[in-house]
Amino acid sequence: MTDRVPYLTSRLQGFGTTIFAEMSALASRTGAVNLGQGFPDYEGPPEVLDAAVAAIRDGHNQYPPGRGVPALREAIARHQQRFWGLAYDPDTEILVTAGATEAIAAACLALCEPGDEVVVLEPTYDSYQASIAMAGARPVFVRLEPPGYRLDAAALAAAVTPRTRLLLINSPHNPTGTVLDRDELAAVADVAVEHDLVVVTDEVYEHLVFDGAEHVPLAALPGMRDRTVTISSGGKTFNTTGWKIGWVCAPPALVTAVTTAKQFLTYVNGGPFQPAIAAGLGLPDAYFRDLAAGLATQRDLLCAGLESAGFGVFRPQGTYFVTVDIRPLRADGDGMAFCRELPERCGVVAVPNQVFYADPATGRHLVRFSFAKRPAVLEEAVARLGKLVP
Ligand code: PMP
Ligand code: GLN
Repeated sequence: MTDRVPYLTSRLQGFGTTIFAEMSALASRTGAVNLGQGFPDYEGPPEVLDAAVAAIRDGHNQYPPGRGVPALREAIARHQQRFWGLAYDPDTEILVTAGATEAIAAACLALCEPGDEVVVLEPTYDSYQASIAMAGARPVFVRLEPPGYRLDAAALAAAVTPRTRLLLINSPHNPTGTVLDRDELAAVADVAVEHDLVVVTDEVYEHLVFDGAEHVPLAALPGMRDRTVTISSGGKTFNTTGWKIGWVCAPPALVTAVTTAKQFLTYVNGGPFQPAIAAGLGLPDAYFRDLAAGLATQRDLLCAGLESAGFGVFRPQGTYFVTVDIRPLRADGDGMAFCRELPERCGVVAVPNQVFYADPATGRHLVRFSFAKRPAVLEEAVARLGKLVP
């Protein structure tokens, strides 16, 4: 356990500084190639960037409406219908948020009583635990185990207790790259329906899937449309992680509840970026296909390099992350020490997966690299990693 932080409420003790900030700071300090924090080093589509510039020039610089600009809510509705066959009413069933991060926080704050339990997949994206803690609720973990990192339906069913308030699911899954298949999603749906639970599903990597794997939104499963809060964001899909335009799609009563919390967190954000993301969501199918195809090539490049450097590589089906087992290169398996030393040893930054586990010991030997980088940058990183001597 870390030292107690003065002033900080007991709910947030132990959360410290996010690993992403720490590792990106380390990368800028050392000039290392940053494969830690997940963000691309290439720009989004010009149509999207131009739309933001035009929106600023055209005076879209004041508070947008609380639920988001109508053009974006309509574009989100059309996107859900076009890609996933799901119909949402832009006026009552869609809420624009300050990134997926705010959507997750607002959902936890809106939907959990203190003492409630939230079932989450482990490894767990770091903001989930903080959002659950801010709501005074408690996470209950269902572990995805290597090498496959698949969902164990029995473990999921066993995690539910009379105190369970929410299932908080993430697919495609950060950091493992697992894309839950129809059987796994059906297991989630069975548990949700049997126990009459609301499911919050984080689908920010919905378009980043490879090898013919299929992203299926949980809301598309029988019985799920009316109990699912679907969250996504424009950051990953349009290479605009700094814009923080996210959204929630859910039935009216759930959107209203989440909006109540959300309006007192940021109220609104990103006025000129909202119409720009709307333009992105309307791009032709080829844009989304090419995005995934480019990332698949980058994944192959990085995975091959990591394998030849000697790591045990868990090949992802989705996201822009790959997890490796460092033990072939570092016998003590200390991923945190490995990541802190890596810039000095070879000029690369990665993220230790232990931060995604309730008990850091579980993920101690695992490290995550991002392949959201230009191929030349990945080649350079691979060349550097190839010089590591066990
Ligand atoms: N969920 C997951 C699984 C993520 O990896 C991230 C990181 N980008 C987020 C949510 C946060 O998304 P946003 O930047 O839109 O807040
Ligand atoms: N989601 C990104 C990642 O997993 C980072 C987002 C952040 O820095 N909070 O790397």
